[in-house]
Amino acid sequence: MEQKKRKIGIMGGTFDPIHIGHLVTAEAVRNEYGLDQVLFIPASSPPHKQNMDVTPAIHRYIMSVMATYSNPYFYVSTIEMERPGPSFTVDTILALMEQFGEQTELFFIMGADAVQELPTWNNVDRLLELCPIIAAARPGCSSAIDGIIQYFGSVGQNRIHRLVTPELEISSTDIRERVRTGHSVKYIVPDSVESYILKEGLYRE
Ligand code: ATP
Ligand code: MG
Repeated sequence: MEQKKRKIGIMGGTFDPIHIGHLVTAEAVRNEYGLDQVLFIPASSPPHKQNMDVTPAIHRYIMSVMATYSNPYFYVSTIEMERPGPSFTVDTILALMEQFGEQTELFFIMGADAVQELPTWNNVDRLLELCPIIAAARPGCSSAIDGIIQYFGSVGQNRIHRLVTPELEISSTDIRERVRTGHSVKYIVPDSVESYILKEGLYRE
C-alpha cells in the first residue's frame, strides 16, 4: 500500500520582524491544504534586499521561534541562515527535498506582493517545477495574481494556486517605522515579539 505523503508548507521571508500577517496567512494555508507542518525560513542575506539594512539573522530567528512556538504545526528552520551567500529559494527547496526525501511534498507559500516579483526570481522555472506555489491573496489582489499566473502560461496554471485570505494591512516595514517613531505595535506582532523588540532596542533608528 502506498504511504500517504507528508505535506510541508514553506514560508520564506526576511521576518524583520515576523508579524500577525505572516502567521494568519500560514495558518490559513495549513488549514486549507491540510499541511502537516509549516516551516518558516528566515533569509540570511535576502537577494532582493542586498543593499538594505537588515537586522542580524539571530534576532529575526529568535522572534520567529517565539511567534510560532504556540502553534504545534509551526517550525522555524535555520537552513538559509547557515548557508553563506545569497539565499535563493530554489536552492533552499532542493536542499529540503533532499533532507525530507520522497515521502514529503513541499508547498511554497507567498503573499501577493512577493508573487508579483516572481518573474525576477533566480531560476523561477525550476522552482515551479520543484514545488507548487500557494499565492495567498486578499480579495482585492486577485487580478494581480491572475496576471502572474498568465505570465507563466500552462506552468503557471498548474503550479501557482491562489488562496483567498483575510485582509491584513500589515508589513514589517510599517512595524519598523512604528517602533522608530514610538508608536505601539501591540496586536500587530505577538506579545513576545513586541517585548523582544523593546528589550533589545530593535528598530529605534
Ligand atoms: P517588508 O515590509 O520588510 O518587506 P513583509 O511584511 O513584506 O516585510 P517579508 O518577510 O518580506 O514581510 O515577507 C515574507 C512573506 O510573507 C512574503 O511572501 C510576503 O508576501 C508575505 N507577507 C508579508 N506580509 C503579509 C501580510 N500582511 N499578509 C499576507 N502575507 C504577507
Ligand atoms: Mg516584503
